[in-house]
Amino acid sequence: MSSPTTAPTALSIQRLSKHYGRTVAVQDFSLDVAAGETLALLGPSGCGKSTVLRCVAGLERPDSGQIMMEGREMTGLPPEARDIGMVFQDYALFPHLSVLGNVAYGPRMRRAPRAEAERRAREALALVDLSGLEHRRPDQLSGGQQQRVALARALATGSGLLLLDEPLSNLDEKLRHELRGELKSLLAQTRSAALLVTHDQREALAVAGRVGVMRAGQLVQVGPGPDLFARPATAWVAAFLGHANIFKGPNGTARVVPEQAVRLGAGDSYHITAQVLTDSGSEVTVDHPLGPLRLHLSPREHGLIKGGQLSVQVDEAGVLQVPDDRGPVEAQSRAGR
Ligand code: ADP
Repeated sequence: MSSPTTAPTALSIQRLSKHYGRTVAVQDFSLDVAAGETLALLGPSGCGKSTVLRCVAGLERPDSGQIMMEGREMTGLPPEARDIGMVFQDYALFPHLSVLGNVAYGPRMRRAPRAEAERRAREALALVDLSGLEHRRPDQLSGGQQQRVALARALATGSGLLLLDEPLSNLDEKLRHELRGELKSLLAQTRSAALLVTHDQREALAVAGRVGVMRAGQLVQVGPGPDLFARPATAWVAAFLGHANIFKGPNGTARVVPEQAVRLGAGDSYHITAQVLTDSGSEVTVDHPLGPLRLHLSPREHGLIKGGQLSVQVDEAGVLQVPDDRGPVEAQSRAGR
């Protein structure tokens, strides 16, 4: 039994494995999602994120491992017997149904009477701020509105667990940015647990309380987003999360220089080998003994450049040393193909 201070587990995935032919899609994957928590599975395309989600939804049968929801074994059950609401990448809205019909479909599928299904649909539509558009058809909505209809349909099921597969990836960058914040607060309001799949680091960090990083079918690291960024477990994770300064260290390790470990305008002066303007200033590369050090300079910090040189002090204690696992691990999961 869990102690009263820890949230009960909404979803527990234990030692899940799944292959397609000779492709190992998911390998020995274990993860718990607490009640009310939003957890993002983050990883490059093809690393097995959707396969995990599809196994949880019951759309795919695992080779081995267990899936438990609120302590109950789900592994062999069909999708409709699981208490799950799902949002797909392409929204999967019915073109011939109204917005209300689409959203009421969720609870209808789960055998709610029509009036009850429509009541829950209206509630969910109000939550996603689409009241008044109940009678439109999906093709009369913008991409962002369609996305919210899909979300409302999942919310209207009243499920304890929501699964979201790249829910924002069909939207343009500006809308995606706006909806990230919206999605986070909506998920917090529903109090359902949510497992979200994305290949977009910013999306994972913006929406989820915890992030699980996947690579080649395996979970490499899990924790709150800022913790992962501050303490990546390996060089590959650091690179994937966007660290720019990762250098070869001794004995199969890598050294990661986080931005906080660097002081500009102090210490020795180094030659600038490259300089690129960005929307928030510029990025310069200095010829540092650790390796070519890439640094962001604000327009104000630009004044620190003197005669093609910049003084930089690296705080050695702030440099992370991690196993260097960069390399073609992905190829192993496709061995023999
Ligand atoms: P992600 O969601 O991270 O992009 P997927 O779970 O979709 O990754 O895929 C993981 C691996 O399994 C990939 O190599 C993919 O090509 C393969 N795969 C996924 N679904 C199938 C399938 N139905 N048949 C064969 N291979 C598949």
